[in-house]
Amino acid sequence: MRRACCDPDGRGPLMEPGVRFLGLDELPVEARQKWAASRVWAARQAPYLATALLALVAVVVDQSEVHGPAPYDLRRFPVDRGWRVYLDQAELTELPVPVIGYWLVHQVTHLIRDHAVRYPGTAAAGGAPLGNRDPDSVRWNVATDCEINDDLNAGAVELPEDAPLPGHFDLPDGWLAEQYWHALEGSVLPDVDCGSGTDGEARDWDSDKPGVDGPSGELIKREVARRVLESMEAGGMPGGWQRWAEQLTSPRENWRRHLSSTIRRGVADVAGRIDFTYQRPSRRNGVSPGVILPSMRQPAPRVAILIDTSGSMRDAQLGQALAEVNGVVRSIGVARRDLRVICCDEKAYNAQKVFDARAIQLEGEGGTDLREGLAAVAELRPTPHLVVVLTDGHTPWPEQAPRGQQVVVGLLDREGTVPPWAKRILIDTRAEAGETE
Ligand SMILES: [Zn+2]
Repeated sequence: MRRACCDPDGRGPLMEPGVRFLGLDELPVEARQKWAASRVWAARQAPYLATALLALVAVVVDQSEVHGPAPYDLRRFPVDRGWRVYLDQAELTELPVPVIGYWLVHQVTHLIRDHAVRYPGTAAAGGAPLGNRDPDSVRWNVATDCEINDDLNAGAVELPEDAPLPGHFDLPDGWLAEQYWHALEGSVLPDVDCGSGTDGEARDWDSDKPGVDGPSGELIKREVARRVLESMEAGGMPGGWQRWAEQLTSPRENWRRHLSSTIRRGVADVAGRIDFTYQRPSRRNGVSPGVILPSMRQPAPRVAILIDTSGSMRDAQLGQALAEVNGVVRSIGVARRDLRVICCDEKAYNAQKVFDARAIQLEGEGGTDLREGLAAVAELRPTPHLVVVLTDGHTPWPEQAPRGQQVVVGLLDREGTVPPWAKRILIDTRAEAGETE
C-alpha cells in the first residue's frame, strides 16, 4: 500500500521558495529511526490501527533553511486526504516517541473517520485574513479532535497538554464531531491545525507525491473495522470506535452474518462428519485385533474459493465479497495450506495458494462456465471440504452436487441462478441488504 517517495527535485507546486520536500531517506538515521519507532509505538497502543499506520506516507517538509519562525506549523503531524503525513525535521528530532506516536494515532483517526468528507463548514473563499485560519475550519478541527481524543483518553494513550478534549469546553465525552461542531459555535477556540485530512481544504504545505488513493483508503478502513469488531469481542475497545465500526459494517451486516454462519456451519458439518472417523485406523487396533476403532483425529477443514472472473462481474463488489470470505475463512482457523483459490471464466485457471485477499491474481474476463471451475475444484488434492463460489450466477451449473463437498454460493446479482444443491447467499452491497435461502 505504501509507495516510495519519488519527485527527486522535491519541489511541490504550492511551496514557497526556500522550502522543499525531502524523502525520509534524506533524513539523518536518528530521525528515520524515531519515525519508525513512533509508528511501532502507535501500532502497539492501537493494534486495530496497524494497517492504517503502515499506510501513512511520510513527507518531510524541509524548513531547516528558514530563519525565524518556521512558516508552517507542523507540530501536530498534519495529514492530507491522500494519507500523507507531514513531518518537520526539527519536531521529529525533539519530540519523544510517545508524543509522535500519539499524533500518528490521532491523525490516522481523522482519515479513517472521514472527517474531510464530513466537513460541515463552507469552503474557504479567501475570506480569512492573511495568515489566519478560516474560523469554520478551526471549529471543525476542534470538534473532530474532541471526537477522537475522548476515545484515546479512555484508552492507554497519554494525551499531550494541547490536545483538545470535550471537557475543556464543558461538553460531554462520546459525541460525534457534528454535535461538538454545533455546541462549539461562538466558543473561543485554540488555533489547532491537523491538516487538509480534517476538512478537505488545501494547505500550503500539501504535496502531490504519490499517496493512498480512495479505493485503497476504503480497504484500509474495512480492515480497521474488522480488527475493531474482533477486538470488541475481547472487550476493552473505546466506545467511539465500536460505534464507528458497527456503523461502517451494519448495512452489510445481514449478508455478512449469513455468509459467515453458512461457511462456519459448512465447516462444522465437515468436521463433525469426520470427527471419530473410521477412515484412519487407531493405534489401539493393536490391542483389539480385528476390531476397527474410530480415530479421534479431527481433520483441519479445507476450503476452496472459486471466483467467477467473467466480464460481467463488477470489480468493486467482487473485492468486497472476497475480503469478507477471506475474513471468515481466517477466523474459523483454516490453515494457509488448506485454502486454495481458483479463478474461472469460460475455463478454470491454476489453483492459487494464497491467504491474503489482496494477493489473489484475478485471471480471465471472458464468458462464464463455472462447471469448468467446479470440475477443477473437484480435482484438487487433497479434496476441499467446502467450496465458496463468488459469482453473479450468469453461468451454467452442473446437474449434480460435487461429491463430498459442500458448496456455498455468494451471489452478487439478484437475477443470477444458483443450483438447488448449493447454499445461496445474496450479496448485495449496493442495495445494502442481504438474504439467504
Ligand atoms: Zn486533530
